Amino acid sequence: MIVDVHAHLTDERLHGRLGSVIASAKAAGVVRVVTCGVGPEDSLKALALRDDFVRVSLGIAPYDLRGYEEVIELIRRNSPVVDAVGEVGLDLYRGTREGFVEQRRVFSEFIALAKELDKPLVIHSRNAGRPAIEQLLSEGAERVVMHAYDGDVSAAKRAAGRGFRFSIPPRIATSDQKKALVRKLPLEALLIETDSPWLGPERTVVNEPKNAWFSVEWIARLKGINPDRVLEVTYRNALEVFGWSDLP
Ligand SMILES: [Zn+2]
Repeated sequence: MIVDVHAHLTDERLHGRLGSVIASAKAAGVVRVVTCGVGPEDSLKALALRDDFVRVSLGIAPYDLRGYEEVIELIRRNSPVVDAVGEVGLDLYRGTREGFVEQRRVFSEFIALAKELDKPLVIHSRNAGRPAIEQLLSEGAERVVMHAYDGDVSAAKRAAGRGFRFSIPPRIATSDQKKALVRKLPLEALLIETDSPWLGPERTVVNEPKNAWFSVEWIARLKGINPDRVLEVTYRNALEVFGWSDLP
């Protein structure tokens, strides 16, 4: 039983053949996918997909904050069917140093919103892992999914000690940084994600939730444990962070 905690099923590369994408995910043992809407338009598309299998998190790209107020409105208005706030966060890869103050300010608004509505946060922190973790900790965020974290391991360990969780994409297959992260963090801090259609096992692959298996197998290999154990603990972690009761 795998929960893919982060994917973009609204992406045109998946959206047009969603029936088969979902069928092969289910055949591969995926029991739920959290699709992430980025910006107001994509968020509306994500909401339209929501059912028992596809759940929804709504956010904005930190390097393109146009329309973020609308996203906040959408989250408020649809609160009962929004499972998480995000992805939101900080990005120094595509964002500018000058824009970073604004990124932080908007990030604060989303952190406060998640606290007010009692939702978990899904965090994008490209090239900004440590500042994102510091801001989350200082602003009292509690249920946190650090998605595709690319920062240093020591900040990650500190965050894991405060209950933050780190979702591991199939790209771990070719990433030494992600392998180091998995070795150093306890299994209790890990989740499975695909970030479909991004972050597949290889750059050329259009990623799909069925590839969540790559993450499970790599975690098992790096920790020297049985994949069943990885499934069991990451599944429980997902239920906990999203506040779900057992899935069918
Ligand atoms: Zn993403």
